[in-house]
Amino acid sequence: MKLILATSNKGKLKEVREILPEYDIVTMSEAGIHDEIEENGTTFEENALIKANYVMNAGNSAAIADDSGLEVDALGGAPGVYSARYCGRHGDDAANNALLLHNLKGVPAPRKARYVAAIALVRPAHAPIICRGTCEGEILNEPRGQGGFGYDPLFLCETGETFAEISRECKNAISHRKRGIEAVLRALEEQQ
Ligand code: IMP
Repeated sequence: MKLILATSNKGKLKEVREILPEYDIVTMSEAGIHDEIEENGTTFEENALIKANYVMNAGNSAAIADDSGLEVDALGGAPGVYSARYCGRHGDDAANNALLLHNLKGVPAPRKARYVAAIALVRPAHAPIICRGTCEGEILNEPRGQGGFGYDPLFLCETGETFAEISRECKNAISHRKRGIEAVLRALEEQQ
């Protein structure tokens, strides 16, 4: 199945292509869609659906979108849906990480957190499928590792390493995106 992926985030694109090798994942720019999509939902699910529907209508094709982020318990679930623009600018990973560490100053370990991904799969003339995947972990005091993107160097996952220290294969086996996409595929099978 051809699926337009509603993101301009290269880290996510790489991951989704690796998680779904049997699908033809087309980027928005490959599909001729160059618009900024306004993510004005208040939940991950709402934002995923807004992005997927926009791209399906613009590209006249099935589309998949992920809206994801980090929830930190000691911060009442922040940065949550604002993860990409926590520092006030969109996609400035270094500034987002610095602000996260600043806001957690003095909070003792373990600073429990989870990555959340809502995945929306939409197809013309079908009901949308929206599922959530999560990955539990904690936020370290300083970054570790060179891989991944976003908050990965600060996110200690269930293997005892950060998401920036584990291999891409390992991240793709346990990540919130992998779990959300698997749930969508199961729901798709049940519909067919
Ligand atoms: P979105 O593009 O609006 O879904 O924003 C997602 C944001 O959440 C990213 O820009 C990152 O800051 C954060 N995020 C989501 N998933 C990950 C991940 O797997 N690693 C690191 N950061 C992530």
